Amino acid sequence: MARISDSGAMPLTILAEHFAKLPGIGMKTAQRLAYFVMSMSEEDAKAFAEAIVNAKKTVHACSVCQNLTDKDVCPICSDLGRDHSTICVVEGPKDVSAFERTREYKGVYHVLHGLISPIDGVTPDKLRITELLKRISEGEVNEVIMATNPTPEGEATAMYISKLLKPLGIKVTRLAFGLPVGAILEYADEVTLYKALENRNEI
Ligand SMILES: [Zn+2]
Repeated sequence: MARISDSGAMPLTILAEHFAKLPGIGMKTAQRLAYFVMSMSEEDAKAFAEAIVNAKKTVHACSVCQNLTDKDVCPICSDLGRDHSTICVVEGPKDVSAFERTREYKGVYHVLHGLISPIDGVTPDKLRITELLKRISEGEVNEVIMATNPTPEGEATAMYISKLLKPLGIKVTRLAFGLPVGAILEYADEVTLYKALENRNEI
């Protein structure tokens, strides 16, 4: 795969380069995927391309919890059967799916879309923290569960937000991780995750 970035590159090379931008995809896999697209029917390839464009066009952040949705307010936030006084704060949409899989959590969520990480240039203003504070000032919130991963960034983000919330008289709790430090929420099984939620501690 020489000179991949030459102008006038083969369409197949350009396609492979796009696949290689996806997380966890190396150039070798990217090439394999590009060849696979070539083996698809014209119809399937078109549907694949349109699915990307369509998702990008219609999916946006929920105006309340910031999770990804194609509605103005997502189905979780519009569910009146849920406990809107408990907010579980997570790093990303994948974490919402992980908690939903436990089928035990009945509160609502707030998606930060990242974690504080000064080294990577992610300062608190790049996250959806203002939206969280606004939400808390407007609604009747009793508890905020900091459910970020037990990584240095996850801990720093949990501490930062809890310091903002404490003066507001909000109960702030943290997941009790029986998980090894650094374990990623999305890979935790339902029971482990539910236990971490059940045994959460006030911080
Ligand atoms: Zn929502």
